[in-house]
Amino acid sequence: MSHIFPRHCKANPPVIARGEGVYLYDQSGKQYLDGSGGAAVSCLGHGDAQVTAAIKAQLDRVAFAHTGFFTSEPAEQLADALIARAPEGIERVYLVSGGSEAMEAALKLARQYFVERGEGQRRHVIARRQSYHGNTLGALATGGNEWRRAPFAPLMVETSHIAPCYAYRGQQDGESPETYGLRVADELETEIKRLGEDSVFAFVAEPVVGATLGAVAPVPGYFKRIREICDRYGVLLILDEVMCGMGRTGTLFACEQDGVRPDIIAVAKGLGAGYQPIGAMLCSGAIYDTIASGSGFFQHGHTYVGHPTTAAAALAVLQRLTDDGLVNRAAEMGDRLKTALIEAFGDHPHVGDIRGRGLFLGLEIVQDPDSKAPFAPELAKNKALKKAAFEAGLICYPMGGTIDGRRGDHILLAPPFILEDQHIDEIVGKLQIAFDQCL
Ligand code: PMP
Repeated sequence: MSHIFPRHCKANPPVIARGEGVYLYDQSGKQYLDGSGGAAVSCLGHGDAQVTAAIKAQLDRVAFAHTGFFTSEPAEQLADALIARAPEGIERVYLVSGGSEAMEAALKLARQYFVERGEGQRRHVIARRQSYHGNTLGALATGGNEWRRAPFAPLMVETSHIAPCYAYRGQQDGESPETYGLRVADELETEIKRLGEDSVFAFVAEPVVGATLGAVAPVPGYFKRIREICDRYGVLLILDEVMCGMGRTGTLFACEQDGVRPDIIAVAKGLGAGYQPIGAMLCSGAIYDTIASGSGFFQHGHTYVGHPTTAAAALAVLQRLTDDGLVNRAAEMGDRLKTALIEAFGDHPHVGDIRGRGLFLGLEIVQDPDSKAPFAPELAKNKALKKAAFEAGLICYPMGGTIDGRRGDHILLAPPFILEDQHIDEIVGKLQIAFDQCL
């Protein structure tokens, strides 16, 4: 009997043996194309020699030293490298162990910033429905995913949720994308006014929504309006780029493409590319300066903050992404993969939408593309597709987002940026097998 507490108690997954490039191999020798990089993690694929060498070199120097006593070269260099490439105004980096921690730190920093400014009455966070920001209690409270929240609701801080920017389902007949974007962005202002004009400390959103909607990018102008509203009411804008950041959408930070200047950004997954568990919370100079000249101490911190070995790994990942041109490659190969998906499945009787940016692509599976009616939730099409694709040797990330209160079906594709044209053919071919079996 296994003593592992598994992700799903009834699951009996194969044992992973090794990885090479875009492929993973289980102990029986079966090969899987990692079409989703796990959960949009493995942006460099498996067995990257540069990253592995950087980790080994750091282990030979020193694996860990607590930030209560020391800083480290890799942490300093990683922070410099991130800030050199971050949106204007972002000046400080706080290194953590993953995405939920990055979001937790972001929320606490935003709240502490206002407390230090004497605005402790700001205690509300506004986020969006059908969002995911992590599984720790603060991040979970921020997320708008009802079924994840339900068991823990009594333990969580109150959060308001407005509509996501989800044109496929939200844009009305005769409405332009721009008008739709402004309409849903304006829900933020309505909610701020409802809660009290000086009672909200942060608005939280993923620039491109991953886990809950399946690679849904905003319409043009949406985030510009969000920024205006945040500025009007002095609310901090926290962008969660845990999944969509680090080059996944074709630019290092996803928000670059929307021309929006956040106050705080959370990144994780692609930052460590799966080689080490690391995340980061990046914040504006203004936020940092307020705390530095106030209490001088961010009231937060985990043992592994600024961990040198994870930082050495992330620094090497960042060098591969930027110096070796892999972010640009994500943009280019993403276009090719999207084109191939549209060619293969654009007219499929159960594919409602093919969307996303860069190598962050989603397919929405529907019962009827004309009415956009989803399949009945008990059919669990996304799970069936995941299983059939896995059996065919393709890893894709299935999701059951909530559509009008019901579970819908999406598949997320987020392959390593090193993929080649033949891998695109393999992804499409294996998805076809899964579609033929399940739809
Ligand atoms: N935010 C987003 C947008 C995510 O996709 C995730 C993970 N799926 C998280 C936060 C939480 O990250 P982690 O699982 O590393 O804690």
